[in-house]
Order: sequence, then structure tokens, then C-alpha cells
Amino acid sequence: MSKYQKTFEPLDLGFTQLKNRVIMGSMHTGLEEAKNGFQKMARFYEERAKGGVGLIVTGGIAPNFQGRTFPLAMQLSFPWQVKKHKLITDAVHKHDGKICLQILHTGRYAYSPFAVSASSTKSPISPFKARAMTKLEIRKTIFDFANCAKMAQKAGYDGVEIMGSEGYLINQFLCKRTNHRKDEYGGSYENRMRFALEVIRAVRKKVGENFIIIYRLSMLDLVDQGSSFPEVIELAKKLKDAGVSIVNTGIGWHEARVPTIATMVPRAAFTWISERVKKEIDLPIVTTNRINTPEVIEDILQNNQADLVSMARPFLADPHFLLKAQKDQAHLINTCIGCNQACLDHIFKNKICSCLVNPKACHETEFDKKSLREKKKVCVIGAGPSGLSCAIEAANLGHDVTLYEKSNEIGGQFNIAKEIPGKEEFHETIRYFKSMLEQEKVKIKLNTEVDLTYLQNSQYDVFIFGTGVIPRIPKINGIDHKKVLTYQEVLFQKKPVGKKVALIGAGGIGFDTAEFLAHDPNKQSDSLNKEEFFNTWGIDTEYQKPGALKPKSSPKAFREIYLLQRKTTKHGKYLGKTTGWIHRQSLKDLGIKMLGGVEYQGIDDQGLHLKTEHGNETLDVDNIILCAGQLSVNQLYEDFKNSDQRDTYLIGGAKLAEEIDAKRAIKEGVELAHSL
Ligand code: NAP
Ligand code: SF4
Repeated sequence: MSKYQKTFEPLDLGFTQLKNRVIMGSMHTGLEEAKNGFQKMARFYEERAKGGVGLIVTGGIAPNFQGRTFPLAMQLSFPWQVKKHKLITDAVHKHDGKICLQILHTGRYAYSPFAVSASSTKSPISPFKARAMTKLEIRKTIFDFANCAKMAQKAGYDGVEIMGSEGYLINQFLCKRTNHRKDEYGGSYENRMRFALEVIRAVRKKVGENFIIIYRLSMLDLVDQGSSFPEVIELAKKLKDAGVSIVNTGIGWHEARVPTIATMVPRAAFTWISERVKKEIDLPIVTTNRINTPEVIEDILQNNQADLVSMARPFLADPHFLLKAQKDQAHLINTCIGCNQACLDHIFKNKICSCLVNPKACHETEFDKKSLREKKKVCVIGAGPSGLSCAIEAANLGHDVTLYEKSNEIGGQFNIAKEIPGKEEFHETIRYFKSMLEQEKVKIKLNTEVDLTYLQNSQYDVFIFGTGVIPRIPKINGIDHKKVLTYQEVLFQKKPVGKKVALIGAGGIGFDTAEFLAHDPNKQSDSLNKEEFFNTWGIDTEYQKPGALKPKSSPKAFREIYLLQRKTTKHGKYLGKTTGWIHRQSLKDLGIKMLGGVEYQGIDDQGLHLKTEHGNETLDVDNIILCAGQLSVNQLYEDFKNSDQRDTYLIGGAKLAEEIDAKRAIKEGVELAHSL
């Protein structure tokens, strides 16, 4: 029996049973609108069903044209659409899985001029102002929800999830922030709830009793004029009679300026609100947000904080999460690190969703395991993200792999990332890589710096150089001064740093280094301390006001820090689409001084001499930290390639240092392994 006993306890819904307590939460993948998207989605969901998840919820599908996320987004309304969805439901059912279709009407979040909402308002995250729905349109939309559910039933789905949170249409009807109507759908809370309840009743009436209806209830809106706690409870209490089978937790409108799922959010940080709602109602409650390990799931269930746990991104990172947990192989789980870099950031850039730690996610059909053409002796040099992913994948495909690393540990740049407050999840990726090297029987040679002669005399068939990067040293007068340190010396070698510092370069590493230096090294970081996280971002767990916000109380930086760049654009402009604002806000709240458009004139005992828009200036800092990008380390590769005829490849930062990040490095490693 698995040690995660409660996790694998079935849940009886009367007319059907869920085989365990874990739901794969809804997530748009971009496959919905892609060429051959249904085949690809079927493979994607099939893999998760195979991995043992109790219930899957699809990405949001619109019930009508106005409700689409953008004009070409997916909608389910017509009988001719049913057959394609059967591909998905059949694939899931083949593995004893269950799947619900999420019905999502975006309301004023529609990225289209056809957007409609409770009232005519514009969201701060969309360029389009929504038109207020007429009463006829409201009635038609309720019908469209029910019709969509019926089509889902015909397509073989086990149920639907009605999206009532995250600031979408139903949420827009519920809150005074967006509902200014004077008719029976606006004004009192009873009136503002009417649309949600009529939608649920209409859906239940159309699909009959034996069909799952999940309602995603916005428990914390995290915006001004959101719902109050009594309002949340009032609606929650009406859900059962309206026909709901399961209540899911929704946290934060998309326009909320509070991180709710990013990596610096402590694990299970919002489960307290699911627990509070659970105490008030008699329906199974699902909790969600930043839950990514079997231990956290089991803990929540054992403490009776929720009946079910929903995770979306962790199933991108590892489709077999639950199977591994069940077999007590949690150390082999590829953990979602909450970075958003390949999932949400891709979606917001209209790219197919994937996963930084698992580039095969949403690309399953491209990576379906081919039979090994010829077993090769593969030599991988460098145990950073690209070398590691390549070595593990190549070994998994049947090659005989040896991995050389000159330092005493694997991980490369990950060992730097894991030091940053709020990025502790990178420890998990290193743990995963370590376990997988062992699992796949890769021969690891740590503390081993190979040279040209060694490689030339070796018996390998293939040589893969993932030799990484070194910090770029900019040409500035006085760059050799003792005040100057590289980011590697600070983050990795932990060289002492004074109380006043200037950072040259404000890319991802500059931001990370600023965050690191701003924190008191003797204190636990926010991401491990829920109270500090709530205070820093103004989340009121007492729920004193509608929306559950309170004034922020951010700690001030431990050091005086200047973050410098030559560009005149906004600092951090090129950080992740969905997380860049969090990093910017965090540094701003900490009091980091961001200077742009600077010219570096020199470094001496006085500090860093700059030319800024205000003229010449000297920052009398104790240290100057170089975060000015990186250069490839590829000399060994060049020398070997020019002297040996065997197959030789260069990957990751060693191939192209510019904009190298873990996402590209891991993807290159996996792809190369498949091409050998
Ligand atoms: P980067 O994003 O290219 O930033 C390099 C910084 O150095 C820029 O601010 C640039 O600004 C400055 N710079 C470049 N050449 C310079 C020179 N010769 N003299 C002085 N300044 C110079 O590189 P990075 O910060 O090393 O990050 C590497 C990769 O990792 C990036 O792809 C990044 O996105 C990724 N990463 C992301 C995150 C995150 O999303 N949180 C965290 C870490 C790393 P100016 O040219 O304007 O001065
Ligand atoms: Fe998780 Fe990052 Fe993968 Fe998204 S890209 S699923 S956040 S690890």
C-alpha cells in the first residue's frame, strides 16, 4: 500500500466514483486551436489518464462565440463538433480515466471586439471594452451553457466544470466591480448570483442526474470590490440545490496584482480558504494552487482541509506523477517549479503550451518513443540542464551514456537559481535529475575535467558538449578592481558582499541577484513563510473586506542596491510574460533603485562612475556585481571537432549563450537525444 493512503482513497459521488483524490485542473494548451489539435490533445490527455489521475478537466471551451477567449478560440455548441471530442474522451476512457469539459465564457476578458459582460466595462488586461448584455442575451447565454454541456455529454465526457472564477463572465456578474446593472441581474447579491445559479440549474436540467458538474467558485477575488466572505458562503450554500456535484476553488482574478501560482507563492498557500468554505457546505471541495508534491497532497487530505486536490501544471511536468507516488517512487517525479516559462508564458504569446522541465508536454506525438536504431556509446560533457536532460533521455532510449562533470555536483546554472529567494523549487529539479541518472543507469564522472587527448583516445561513438557559459566581463575601466565580483562569485561561491552594491546588467540574472542580495541571509525567504508572503502581497486571511485585500507591508531590502542597464526601456521588459511584473513589483517594494540609460565610465576606490541623464554621477558602493550576460564555453568542442571524425554535438549555452535559459537547454538536450 502506498504511504499516500488518503490520496488514493476513492471518492463516491453516488452515480459514479473517482478512483483517487487528485484532479488534473483545467489548463489551456494551445492544442485546442492547432492543426490536428484533437489528435494531439487526445495523446496529451491519454498520457495523463495512463498516469493514474482520478479526473481530468480540459482547458476552457466557450459555450458561444462571444465567450471565446479570442475570435478563433474553441467553442462547443454544435452536433458536428461532437465527433472530434470523442477522440479525447475515448483515449482517456481506454485507461480507466474520467474527463470533464470546462465551459468557460470569458466575458470582458475576451480578446475581441465582440466581448460582452454584465455591464459595459473594460478590464485592465484587455484592450477591448465589453458591451453590456441585454436580458435576451443573458437568457441565450444560459441556454448556450446548457447546450454546451449537452454536447459534452454526447461526446462522452463524464461531466463539465462551469468556470465561475478567475474574473471570467460568471465572476463578472457576481461582483460589484463589474456588475452595475439595475435589473434583476444586478444590485443586491441575490440578483448578482442569479446568473451563476441559472446557468448551473439549466446545465443540470439538460444533462440529467448522472453527470458530474463541478463549479469553480471564486473564493478569493483579490481585487477591490470583489466578493465578501459571507457572499462566497451564500453562493456556496446554494450550489448543491442548483445541481453541483463538486466545488472547485478559484483564487484571484486574472487582473489581480497578487501572485497566485508563480514559484514564489508558498506551496498550498491558498488551501486555508478551501478549508474555510468546506466547513460551511456539504459538497466535496477541491483545493488548488501551488500544490506540487505527493506529501503536500496527502497532508491536505489527512488534515481534512479539502476532499480533493487539483493540480494543472504538475501534470505537464510529469504525466505519471500519481503512478510514481502510488509506487512510492516520489523521488522520480519531475516536479513543477512554478516558473510559467513554457506553459502560461507560451499561451500568452499564442504558442503551444509545454513545460520547462518536460519539453515533451503537449508534444507527445512528436516524441513517441521510437525503437532504438543502433545502441551507441554516448559521452556527454557537462552536467548542466542541457547535458543532464540529454544524458537521461539518451539512456532512456537505450544508449550507453557516460556523463562527465568537472565540478563536484550536477546542476550547472540550476545551482545558482536554487539560491534565489523564491526559487527554492529548483532543488526539486536537481533532485529529479539525480534520481533519473541513477534510474537510467547513466555513468556519472564528477570532479572529472576531460581534455582533448582523453576524448581522442576514448571509445565513444558520440560526443555531446554541454559545457555551458561563463559570465561576460564588460570592457569598463577598472573592471579588475577588487570591488568587482561576478554573479557566479556572489551566488555560487558566496563571496562576501558589502551593504551598498551596484549591479551591472538588469536581465534575468540581474533581477535574481538583486532579489538574493535584498534578503537578509539569516532569515527564511517568503516562499517558505506563508505569513510573510501574505503580508508582502497584501492578502487578508482575516477576509475583512470584499476581495480579501489589505495594505501591503513589504520588508525593506537588507542592502542598498542599484540595478543598472544601458537600455532606456523598462527594467525587466524581457522577463517572463506572466511573472515579469511580479519580479519588478517585488524589487520595487524592496526599494531597489533601478537606473536605465546609463553609461559606465569606470570603477575605482570611490565606486562606480556613471553618466546618466542627470550628468556624471558616482555610486559610492562597496561592490559592483557583473550580471552582464554570458559567453559560451566551447573551445574543447571546437578543438575536438577539428581533430576527430566521430559524431560531435554542441548544446545549450555552449552552443548559443545569448538568451540561454533552462527551458531552451533542457529542450535541446531531449531533442538531441531523440535524433541520435
Ligand atoms: P540577459 O537577459 O541577456 O541580460 C544581460 C544584461 O546585461 C542586460 O541587462 C544588458 O543590458 C547587460 N549587458 C549586456 N552586455 C553588456 C555589456 N557589454 N556591458 C554592460 N552591460 C551589458 O542575460 P542574463 O541576465 O544573464 O540572463 C540569461 C538568460 O537567463 C536570459 O535568457 C534570461 O531571460 C534567463 N533568466 C531569466 C530569469 C527570469 O525570468 N526570472 C532569471 C534568470 C535568468 P544593457 O545592454 O541594457 O546594459
Ligand atoms: Fe511548471 Fe514551469 Fe513546467 Fe509550467 S513550465 S508546468 S510552471 S515547471
